[in-house]
Amino acid sequence: MTPSADDTVCDVVIAGGGPAGSATALTLLRQGASVVLTDPVAADPGRRPEWKLGESLAPRARPLLERLGVIGRVARGPHTPCFGNQSSWGGTVLTDDAFLYDPHGVGWHLDRAHFDRTLFQAACAAGAGRRAHSVRAVRRVRDHWRLMLGGETIRARYLVDATGAGAGVARRVGAAVQREDRLIALAARLPPGGAPQQPSRTSLVESAAHGWWYAAPLPDGTSLAMLMTDADLVAEHALHRPRNWWAGLMATTHVRARVGHPDPAMVRLRIVRAATAHTLPAAGPGWAAVGDAATAADPIAGRGILTALATGVTAAQAVGADAAGDRGALGRYAERVLAIHTEYLHARAVCYRAEDRWNTRFWIRRRSPSPERADGPGPGPGG
Ligand SMILES: Cc1cc2nc3c(=O)[nH]c(=O)nc-3n(C[C@H](O)[C@H](O)[C@H](O)COP(=O)(O)OP(=O)(O)OC[C@H]3O[C@@H](n4cnc5c(N)ncnc54)[C@H](O)[C@@H]3O)c2cc1C
Repeated sequence: MTPSADDTVCDVVIAGGGPAGSATALTLLRQGASVVLTDPVAADPGRRPEWKLGESLAPRARPLLERLGVIGRVARGPHTPCFGNQSSWGGTVLTDDAFLYDPHGVGWHLDRAHFDRTLFQAACAAGAGRRAHSVRAVRRVRDHWRLMLGGETIRARYLVDATGAGAGVARRVGAAVQREDRLIALAARLPPGGAPQQPSRTSLVESAAHGWWYAAPLPDGTSLAMLMTDADLVAEHALHRPRNWWAGLMATTHVRARVGHPDPAMVRLRIVRAATAHTLPAAGPGWAAVGDAATAADPIAGRGILTALATGVTAAQAVGADAAGDRGALGRYAERVLAIHTEYLHARAVCYRAEDRWNTRFWIRRRSPSPERADGPGPGPGG
């Protein structure tokens, strides 16, 4: 393909306008790069998701938001403070992990769609060219990438995959996604109903026979309740049926007390993939994967958004270093992502081994020294 005078030329195309893509764009723009940021959902007001899972932001994210220059905008949003996490894990007693002594302050219960929009708009205001298209076909032509977005041909020196856990772009350029499990979230937004007058400002985790439950207040006064379990167990126990899901919630102690007793007929379940996965390699000549597209963690780790922001910043620095002639920068970035993912896998194993009350498949799988891999056919991000 010969370059045409009509091609749009830029330094970096970023596919995906979630937290990872926006953090990458903001950092690259500060380094003086020209950036096109494309996302069919984030860039299209008519297609924005009403709500998105992943709404608790750890205090440790604050310095990153400051560094990206968006802390003021985020703080003005409808988000509410999160004072810590409570859990009933390995026993029936509720234990507190309060952010009281965290040097970064408290966390946030996010209005996630609003948070993502804030970052995306900040990147566009800082100079990112905005497009509302999916990146599908990409071609390496000598030392640059050529891709079609709608009817437009874009030529860029670097390509960043920020498309989430499917890592569709990285897979197109030859990387492989390795999935470690088939974790699924069955989530519902519950109206205030009979919930306590003063909503608790903590997130809550409670283990159960086929997985674990999570509850958290949302900034609009509703609460989120979700069951995390494995895809095969959802099918086996028909947990996707609201009646069964509700019965499971009613069998909990702490989550049940937290969400009150809204009308079960109101339950509209959303089923979302939440598997642990990583992309190998997470970067190569002229490209990098960031956020979930690089390393996707079990929500029990509560680190997804933080890692999305951090990998976005680090990958942008590696791209800048590569452009300045440091040909090892992207390789070192890929090694760092792998190290982060490996450390996370150790932490996840320790966490699940701390719960030994259930001898069901969900827990046995996670307690065994080499966890049962479930990367055969069936759901998995992007699978
Ligand atoms: C059930 C659940 C609960 C979670 N809870 C938490 C939590 O409490 N706290 C926390 O920190 N993390 C949590 N997470 C993780 C968190 O949501 C993710 O880590 C985070 O969204 C990753 O951000 P990202 O920008 O990498 O990807 P995403 O947020 O997935 O954004 C990817 C973007 O790419 C776009 N896109 C997709 N394909 C293409 C394409 N081909 N071309 C262009 N654009 C494309 C999509 O439209 C989307 O906007 C949770 C995850 C799950 C599943």
